[in-house]
Amino acid sequence: MIMTNVAQTQVLEGKLNLLDFDRVGLRSLLEQWGEKPFRADQLMKWVYHDRISDFSEMSNISKALRGRLQDSAELRLPEVAEAQISRDGTCKWAFKLSCGNNVETVFIPTDDRGTLCVSSQVGCALDCSFCATARQGFNRNLTTGEIVGQLVLAQKLLDTPEYQSVSYRRISNVVMMGMGEPLANFNALVPALNLMLDDNAWGLSKRRVTVSTSGIVPAIDRLREQVDVALAVSLHAPTDDLRNELVPINKKYPIKDLLDACRRYVTRDHKSHIMFEYVMLEGVNDQPEHARALGKLLRGLPCKVNMIPFNPFPGAGYTVSSNNAINRFWEELNKTGVRALKRRTRGDDIDAACGQLAGDVDDKTQRMAKKFASPRYGETPS
Ligand code: SAH
Repeated sequence: MIMTNVAQTQVLEGKLNLLDFDRVGLRSLLEQWGEKPFRADQLMKWVYHDRISDFSEMSNISKALRGRLQDSAELRLPEVAEAQISRDGTCKWAFKLSCGNNVETVFIPTDDRGTLCVSSQVGCALDCSFCATARQGFNRNLTTGEIVGQLVLAQKLLDTPEYQSVSYRRISNVVMMGMGEPLANFNALVPALNLMLDDNAWGLSKRRVTVSTSGIVPAIDRLREQVDVALAVSLHAPTDDLRNELVPINKKYPIKDLLDACRRYVTRDHKSHIMFEYVMLEGVNDQPEHARALGKLLRGLPCKVNMIPFNPFPGAGYTVSSNNAINRFWEELNKTGVRALKRRTRGDDIDAACGQLAGDVDDKTQRMAKKFASPRYGETPS
């Protein structure tokens, strides 16, 4: 997998992107170059702790290795295509990748933490009916370096005077909840998560790194085996009929299989729990009977339900549940013994809220063209 990244980078740009390598990958690269593996640790500290990108400044690294790095490697970051700060302090950036597509990254500060919401794909192939990213179609997976590059670049920007008004400016938490389905980009995701956790890189604790998935069951199991991070699952419905409509991947991995995978995931660590995301859609999934069914479904599974008010976007075809419906749902769920949180929407004035990230995607699947040509959209098929 690491070799794939290496090969890709070489073909695309001529130079290796060092951000593509986690510690194991970097060690093996350096070994191939005839260097001692511990050089990887030194190199990572320069890059991630000291934020030095000029190899000539890396004083504890031999001159020969510095020369080789200079010739064949670089730290390639995306470009900032657009930057916005919301009135609640949420920051949203469109980052332009070398292929010309943009992905969006969001920073959500509070008094004591800063959460970066990171994208994993250009667009998304999954087509959840209430999500703006789905409307963009899909172009490609991000590389490890492009995932990690969002952290590096966001922190670099947050350190500039322009962001001085933001209440908290350090990335203390990461959620893989930006554009894309992270578990559909597994091979690039895992080294990126390793870098977030690695003390020589970001050094975040495992509870501060969350992967959110629409429910790709085999990949949940592989994630459990390979890296220790928190898991969020986009459930959104208590029955297969309804979930098939909202999250079509449910037809392949129905709720029972998904919850079994969640149970396996939490057995690893007695303290861990699953965060189930539940978008509140008026008249669709927000009735008391949905709450009761959800409570029954989740009984006995260590979890929390995160109720997300639906964030609208043009042509979405859904409305957010009323406050009354949200409160009622919360009460019903609580009665069943399942803990639920009513999430506040952040950054909606700059379209930075969940499901509003759209970037600028050159859709390879032609999803929108096909959809608008289909009778469902009231047009005659061409
Ligand atoms: N593909 C991953 C990450 C997606 S985004 C996943 O499905 O989990 C993170 C969360 O935002 C998901 O739970 C997603 O279902 C939710 N979401 C998508 N569109 C939304 C919208 N318009 N309003 C509120 N939440 C939305």
